[in-house]
Amino acid sequence: MAPTVQNIAILGSTGSIGQNTLRVVKNLGGRFRVTYLTTNKNIDLLQKQIDQFQPRGVVVLDEYNSSVLEKLVGDKVEVLTGEEGLQEIVKRDDVDLVVSSLVGFAGLKPTIEAIKHRKAVALANKETLVAAGEIITSLVREYGVQLIPIDSEHSAILQCLAGEDRSRVAKLILTASGGPFLHTNRDDLHSVTVEEALNHPNWKMGNKITIDSATLMNKGLEVIEAHWLFDLPPEKIEVVVHPQSIIHSMVEFIDGSVKAQLGLPDMKIPIQYALTYPDRSSLNGGRIDFAELGSMTFFKPDLEKFRCLRLASDALSLGGTTPAVMNAANEIAVDAFLNRKITLTQIPEFIDRAITSHRTKTSPDLNDILEADRSTRAFVSSIIK
Ligand code: MN
Repeated sequence: MAPTVQNIAILGSTGSIGQNTLRVVKNLGGRFRVTYLTTNKNIDLLQKQIDQFQPRGVVVLDEYNSSVLEKLVGDKVEVLTGEEGLQEIVKRDDVDLVVSSLVGFAGLKPTIEAIKHRKAVALANKETLVAAGEIITSLVREYGVQLIPIDSEHSAILQCLAGEDRSRVAKLILTASGGPFLHTNRDDLHSVTVEEALNHPNWKMGNKITIDSATLMNKGLEVIEAHWLFDLPPEKIEVVVHPQSIIHSMVEFIDGSVKAQLGLPDMKIPIQYALTYPDRSSLNGGRIDFAELGSMTFFKPDLEKFRCLRLASDALSLGGTTPAVMNAANEIAVDAFLNRKITLTQIPEFIDRAITSHRTKTSPDLNDILEADRSTRAFVSSIIK
């Protein structure tokens, strides 16, 4: 029996994960039919994707670019606009799987709509779980849908857990490359440039996540993401720096055995695993040459130098609305750094101030999360000016 073709909607198809997802879809032959693609405002690339994959509809978040595209494509493809457009397409019958690869908090609402309409979700948007992990995981249980991580560390853990009884897990060990400033002196960190921060040693990614990798906030967000995905307390989630980015993460079991997932740093591998889970398909690309690699090294992250990592674990311990506050403060601060308004080391300072001035609300509903996000953005923007 031929496998059924699955209809896929890719939210954020012009970003780094989105483009790699389309490469994976192509690699998988006829298994997926792309029904929807979305972009913020990169309509040049979206047009190329429309020609190649012929989706039924596209969403352009930016209104002006949406109207420009509409005139260009005529009635070849339906063009929707804005957040409403995103929330509309994930409900439709011609979508089975939603790849959520939007950047930041913007991914939350469409992911919730997708789950409520019983779509499988492949999640690259870690901020969704950071800000609203409790809400998302309880919706996933309520609607009985599959939520599969695309993030390489979490994909690694999922692969290590295959065939294992989850009650036999002792701890998760997330690996971190350490980013471009691993060997920079703590005192020199305040004067690094945007260009230096965007120059990641191992991974080619979008700007926001690349800055998060430079501050190690990315690893902090991933600890919170792992907490919700694998239902383990913070003290059972460890971070180790591994500059080669060959081991993508590990699971230690109660008998002392450790399983690791290894691979070259290529996001197509975890993306394809999320799409074919729990099966695998062939994928061309480089292979690890262990003799060539020679050695792999590991050490403890410097929490004094990379304050964001500690702020994230504090936010997770405080729980409730606090991770959403931390996330919102980080998004505003990273944006300010990219626009050269603040230094890299001011990012944790602004996050710290936002968390300190927030009163945690426990067991938040979606409105509490949205309000915490909104007020934090306003607060941090006002103190950055
Ligand atoms: Mn990652």
